[in-house]
Amino acid sequence: MRWNERISPNVLAIPPSGIRRFFDIAAEMDDVVSLGVGEPDFITPWHIRESCVYGLERGFTAYTSNAGLLELREEIAHHFRSRYNVDYDAKKEVLITVGVSEALDLAIRALLSPGDDALIPEPCYVSYKSCVSLVGANPIPVPTSMENNFQLTVDALERAITPKTKLLLIGYPNNPTGAIMPREELMKIADFAKAHDLIVLSDEIYADLTYDAEHTCFSSLPGMKERTIVFNGFSKAYAMTGWRIGYALGAPEIIAAMTKIHQYTMLCAPITAQIAAVEALKNGEKQMKKMVKEYDCRRRLMVDGFRAMGLDCFEPKGAFYIFPSIKRTGLSSMEFAEQLLRAEKVAIVPGDAFGDSGQGHVRCSYAYSIANLNEALTRIEHFVRPMLK
Ligand code: PLP
Repeated sequence: MRWNERISPNVLAIPPSGIRRFFDIAAEMDDVVSLGVGEPDFITPWHIRESCVYGLERGFTAYTSNAGLLELREEIAHHFRSRYNVDYDAKKEVLITVGVSEALDLAIRALLSPGDDALIPEPCYVSYKSCVSLVGANPIPVPTSMENNFQLTVDALERAITPKTKLLLIGYPNNPTGAIMPREELMKIADFAKAHDLIVLSDEIYADLTYDAEHTCFSSLPGMKERTIVFNGFSKAYAMTGWRIGYALGAPEIIAAMTKIHQYTMLCAPITAQIAAVEALKNGEKQMKKMVKEYDCRRRLMVDGFRAMGLDCFEPKGAFYIFPSIKRTGLSSMEFAEQLLRAEKVAIVPGDAFGDSGQGHVRCSYAYSIANLNEALTRIEHFVRPMLK
């Protein structure tokens, strides 16, 4: 069977994630220090794991409703009301999904038809463009740059928009740059969305991981709730990547449409993870804040480390990534990442894995121990020193 002739062209056309490729090479080497994966090095706090154990003991092993446990949806609605002063109806406007990954895919599939355009500011999380391409729609990149603190501007959006643009997909705090979006800037984006009648998909999975800054939820901006789908989840803030639990918040019609796809594909998110997520939201804030404080120390170490070795480095204000410029070395992002891995056994991700405007940068995750980060910085400095003379 010639499988490649049978596989959907939309699937053949999307590249495999540029993040994983490196880790396949790194996995075959000894003594590698990896700053590659965007995953907390903490284990999920015990009280959250324990709630799942008790859930199992009490026999909670069945499907939940398609939309997810009502108790969890109510906790999420409560969280958004108290934190951002935005009201969601737990019964109609909240959908529990298998990670934010599933929620994004559902929203894109529910909204886009072949030939539609979606504006996607770059650099951005690797799955956005591929999810759009998979439905036969066109991702339209909107570049941001370090010179402008990786801020998305209305000028750049105006240059990129087309008559077929249906939605704008933003993610902040940003993976890979660590940029956040201040409220004043978001207001301008909101005006743009309104003027062009766009739907906004707002991936706020790193909302709790901000440093010296408050997160503004996009749907809390005046007039934005009706045209926004907000995404969040438990993977990052509560160190729960493996539990696979996320959610989407939006108008009843879009949540109903997404639920239709979800019921035929996933049926529901795992009940065990939903029970744990209730506990995380009810009682997890203290432990979460402790982890955020630790990330903040690591963030400072990394900014100082890169600057001290002579690389220009934007100070990230959120998430747990740093995105230094490697332009002064004269290498491309891919050359830098490959040579660093072979010469010094440090695994990082080339910036252009996150879009063309990531060229000239590399992404390092600092969700690793201080010892690991120090070792990586020493090795990177050893690698770049001869090139910066
Ligand atoms: N959105 C962003 C910006 C991410 O960085 C990630 C994971 O790295 C995801 C979504 C996916 O998260 P989840 O584990 O909830 O599927």
